[in-house]
Amino acid sequence: MARYTGPVCKLCRREGKKLFLKGERCYTGKCALERRAYAPGHNGQSRRKSSEYGLQLRAKQQCRRYYGIQEGQFHKYFIEAERKQGITGENLLRICESRLDNVVYLLGWASSRAEARQLVTHNHFKVNGKNVNIPSYLLKAGDEIALKDKSKASEKFKAVIEANASRPVPQWLDLNADALTAKVIALPTREQIAVPVEEHLIVEFYSK
Ligand code: SF4
Repeated sequence: MARYTGPVCKLCRREGKKLFLKGERCYTGKCALERRAYAPGHNGQSRRKSSEYGLQLRAKQQCRRYYGIQEGQFHKYFIEAERKQGITGENLLRICESRLDNVVYLLGWASSRAEARQLVTHNHFKVNGKNVNIPSYLLKAGDEIALKDKSKASEKFKAVIEANASRPVPQWLDLNADALTAKVIALPTREQIAVPVEEHLIVEFYSK
């Protein structure tokens, strides 16, 4: 399935939740969901009760859209999460959270996950001293991420990092804001993952 390239605020309005897809604007009163808190389209303001399946489907879509993950890849993550020890839903979120593009966003090195994905593809980062340009690269505890020296000198990067400097970095990441390096202290616990979904609904969706 092709990547969605339409207006991203529509996705938040469709889901009725802030998915933080547009960078700084999401944290201001200009957020489309705050101004029009109903689904887009003709029937957007009519209230419909969701079926159980509908709730499960929406939870899966919300999670996918939040991280910007394609359907096929997300399903693979679910299979992987089922294989791991522990709670499947939490495993799934932990896998999504440990993607390199997500971590670049969490470190404040990009304004949105979509921008982070593009920056990773454009080869601006190293992991454990090696070039990595795969947004879905999964980080592990102990991995070190660094912005390349050439990228550090870029005015565009300086502006992005400055604009995002006030965004808190999760505790499972150790950011050196001067050197523009970071270390994964440990993979996150559920409490440290901010995605606004009930992951048990996603497990129920795929378990049918
Ligand atoms: Fe969603 Fe951000 Fe648009 Fe608000 S501004 S609707 S949070 S993408």
